[in-house]
Amino acid sequence: MFFFPTYGFWQFTSVLLSIACSIFLGLAVYYDAKQQENKNALVWAILTGFFKIIALIIYLIVRNRDKNRLVICENCRKLTSKSLGYCIHCKSPIINQDNSKEYKEKIKIFATLAIVFYVLNLIIQIFQGAASSIFLMNM
Ligand SMILES: [Zn+2]
Repeated sequence: MFFFPTYGFWQFTSVLLSIACSIFLGLAVYYDAKQQENKNALVWAILTGFFKIIALIIYLIVRNRDKNRLVICENCRKLTSKSLGYCIHCKSPIINQDNSKEYKEKIKIFATLAIVFYVLNLIIQIFQGAASSIFLMNM
């Protein structure tokens, strides 16, 4: 009987942590997509919020594919790969956004928060599982 009242509380906390994890994961993906100049940044953020790991894996696959896409060099107007960071024809750098550093910082913070909340939730799940099994044993 002892663990019964606490069970609801931990379950509620677990749901809150799960939501927090989703939000921060979504934000991390949002700023990462923004940094990659992805036009669907918001869509990816929402998808990740809902489907978490599955959406994240698909996002990362698409992201790495897009990374190698061709862009027109600002200097010589020829097609070149974006992934190199410089033009293969004239060697001039491919211009990156000025706010790239700011985005990187945000991605790092939000990804860390998502992991922290995920781990906290995992600990509660384990604790809750242990608590309910003790409860069952004592019945
Ligand atoms: Zn060039």
